[in-house]
Amino acid sequence: MSISTSREQIKNLVRDAADIVQVVGEHVELKRAGTRFTGRCPFHNEKTPSFSVNPQGQFYHCFGCGEHGDVFSFVMKFHHMEFPEALKMVAQKFGVDLPERQLSESEQAQLRQREQLYAANEAAAVVYQECLRHPKWGETARLYLEQRGVPAEIVDRYRLGLAPDPEQASWSCLFDRLVAKGLSPEVVEKAGLAVRKERGGHYDRFRSRVMFPISDMTGRVVAFGGRILGEGQPKYMNSPESPIFDKSRLLFGLHQHKDAIRKSRRALVVEGNFDLLLLAVHGVDNVVAPLGTALTRAHVHSLRSYADEVVLLFDADAAGLKAAMRSIPFFLAERVEGRVALLPDGHDPDSFVREQGPEALASLVEGARPLPEFAFDALVREHGLTLAGKNRIVGELKLLLAEAADPEQRGLMIAHFSEKLGVSSGYFQGGAKVAPPPAAPSSAAAPSSSGLAGLSNQEKQLIDFFILYPEYQAELREAGLAAFFRDSAAHRLVELLGRLSEAEPCQPEQLLAAAENEADRAYVVRLLTQVQPVMDEEAGHGRQLCDALIRWLRQERQRRDSADLQQQIEQAEGLGNTGLMLELMRRKQELKRKRTSS
Ligand SMILES: [Zn+2]
Repeated sequence: MSISTSREQIKNLVRDAADIVQVVGEHVELKRAGTRFTGRCPFHNEKTPSFSVNPQGQFYHCFGCGEHGDVFSFVMKFHHMEFPEALKMVAQKFGVDLPERQLSESEQAQLRQREQLYAANEAAAVVYQECLRHPKWGETARLYLEQRGVPAEIVDRYRLGLAPDPEQASWSCLFDRLVAKGLSPEVVEKAGLAVRKERGGHYDRFRSRVMFPISDMTGRVVAFGGRILGEGQPKYMNSPESPIFDKSRLLFGLHQHKDAIRKSRRALVVEGNFDLLLLAVHGVDNVVAPLGTALTRAHVHSLRSYADEVVLLFDADAAGLKAAMRSIPFFLAERVEGRVALLPDGHDPDSFVREQGPEALASLVEGARPLPEFAFDALVREHGLTLAGKNRIVGELKLLLAEAADPEQRGLMIAHFSEKLGVSSGYFQGGAKVAPPPAAPSSAAAPSSSGLAGLSNQEKQLIDFFILYPEYQAELREAGLAAFFRDSAAHRLVELLGRLSEAEPCQPEQLLAAAENEADRAYVVRLLTQVQPVMDEEAGHGRQLCDALIRWLRQERQRRDSADLQQQIEQAEGLGNTGLMLELMRRKQELKRKRTSS
């Protein structure tokens, strides 16, 4: 048995054990609709659900953006995983033992490395928690947390810990403990938890810091953020990026808060980890914080699965304002409503909610201004509305507009801004760079690019029937289906199905698994989710349809043959080849006779 066959079997085994509705349902709110489930697509932003999950076929398809696939493609796309990891995750979730040797060596090595990095981070989280509870080492940190108003249940809920003071513990406190637990020094270093000394040996990267474990969307610890205790620089420090940690993608708190965000369909973005914790203390749970970076398009993209709108919550004096403006194109590109709520002077989220209560925060958030308007006002404050000021504002806005996703949004923004500035919209067009939208983290394949859309209705009906009614495949093949579609956009699909159905009828799902072309796969998935085949054999519906289609196919073939012959006759005539011409005319006559008698 070849590796690829057995691998295919394992994949099928896991797929059979898995429940795609459960896997998707963890991140998308699904409602039953007949035999399927529908919800709002996690891969593009939409108000009305066009994302469909089919539990029978164990696949999903979005009629809005065309994303589709099986449980593995969903996990890979949603969590940005490679196939082996997705396979393993789904297998574990549904209790399937996975023989590792089925993976290639490089896949095994990659998987092992990632698992060791997860193990190192998880072990570190435990050590940091222990250090925070240590009677002596943890004293200062516990006092600090208490003074900042972080109660014990929040410490537990977010698994806060302590990287102890090296004067009290040692310079390699964490490192020694992780190695004692069996982790290799290389892995601890690669996870960003320890730094190698030039003369050999390692010391801990994080020291004298309150530690925040950062989870990925599956809840595994992939990195840490550390806040210095007392004075010292830098105040905040995050783990360096690693194969399992991409800070431009992850948001602190998203894993813990995704249900609260989904419930309110709104996410608040705050600047710091403590802001997030203290809002949680006051029962505000739909909050995330970027990890020391400005908001990226990938961040907005990952919020889009849970929220319709994102409210950026800023201190009035924060440097975050410029960053907020730079994020406008990401919101436009991802079609997520972005708004800005400014805290009153002198307040941070913590002091505001502590002094004025969660209701005041809620009304501040309700009154948040749309990001483009907010940006405009900020620009007016900066440049003024003199002629020179307006020119500078137009210049800055053009840069933002150039990155806006679709022409409609861009048009709306131009109309909005030109009216506000009292200038013609032409100011925004001249010299404005009309760039394609920045690449989406998970871009949807456009199934409409398939030439299949150009087929006639009758041709489509024939192909659809060929796919959906396996019991008639042999008949259709004999009737010359493949030859008929030889020069058509559907030839690849028809030939593949012809080959697959040679020995025994081929189910649509098998065709789906074997089709390599994205557009072909999209065509089949669409067929499976949209068309309900009439399996009413008693009424003879399939039989009738098959007969009618074969009749049409024969007539159409003869018509084409006849047209071909006519063309050849004209050519022969043009060349003065009378013999050939007469022979072709005889054949055409014969064809006509057959046609009328059939
Ligand atoms: Zn979609």
